Amino acid sequence: MSLFANTVLVTGADSHGIGRAVALGLAKAGADVAVHWYRDRAKADDLAAQIAALGRRAVLVHADMGDAAAARAAVVQADEALGGLGILVCNAAHIQRKPFLEITDADWDAVHGVNLRGYFACAQTAAQRMVRRGGGGRIVMVSSINQAHASPDLAHYVASKGGVMMLARSMALELAPHGITVNCVAPGTIETDINRHMLADAEFRARKLAPVPLARAGTPEDVAGAVVYLAGKGAGYVTGSTITVDGGLTIA
Ligand code: NAD
Repeated sequence: MSLFANTVLVTGADSHGIGRAVALGLAKAGADVAVHWYRDRAKADDLAAQIAALGRRAVLVHADMGDAAAARAAVVQADEALGGLGILVCNAAHIQRKPFLEITDADWDAVHGVNLRGYFACAQTAAQRMVRRGGGGRIVMVSSINQAHASPDLAHYVASKGGVMMLARSMALELAPHGITVNCVAPGTIETDINRHMLADAEFRARKLAPVPLARAGTPEDVAGAVVYLAGKGAGYVTGSTITVDGGLTIA
């Protein structure tokens, strides 16, 4: 698959999750990758080594995406280190399970600060630079099936993902004249560091996967395939869209 550009920043790539698979998928497709990390430097270093082994360049950028100024600075650092970002993948997210009646203002801010304002800060900073350079760009936002479907004990997370979907659509509208496409990838149940501990419980796993027509949890690579497609030259006429990667969970 031929990518739209060969420079990318992937946020939230310091876990055994979707960000890592996306970074590797894009590197395999020919991209130099800025690997954003927050908590686990060792995992980010390991990913950078794997990208280098594929013959591509990897640079590390660090930021708490809940801090808008730090998020913007990370994008600038990645943009300068790679000589201009052609592709941005917003992926870093904070999840917390709490009944709606118990969510505090601080809980709300912590989730929205990373999941929605963090995506906004990264995407706006990257888009401003893409517009200035004039060569177009690709922005992919990893949202969730929760962008359009509620789940119990996740009201703040679900609301943040609904916000991501509408942020992507709004950006798609305004950035189209600049040749920048903006799309979402909405995963269903994907086995990653975010939920591995819960899916290890056989009863929880069976209950969670029972309604999935394809009868398995998704892998990070399943999601990466959709992101690589949206970052590819072949997706040039796709914008403001969502690719759902959920094994058919939300068909019915
Ligand atoms: P993960 O826990 O493996 O990855 C989350 C990433 O976000 C990590 O790299 C972590 O360091 C980063 N992060 C968390 N808080 C941060 C902060 N304050 N600042 C900077 N980075 C921070 O989980 P994942 O499943 O790979 O999640 C990736 C994306 O996929 C998220 O946007 C998540 O909402 C979405 N998603 C996942 C699933 C699933 O079932 N795994 C389902 C739907 C959507």
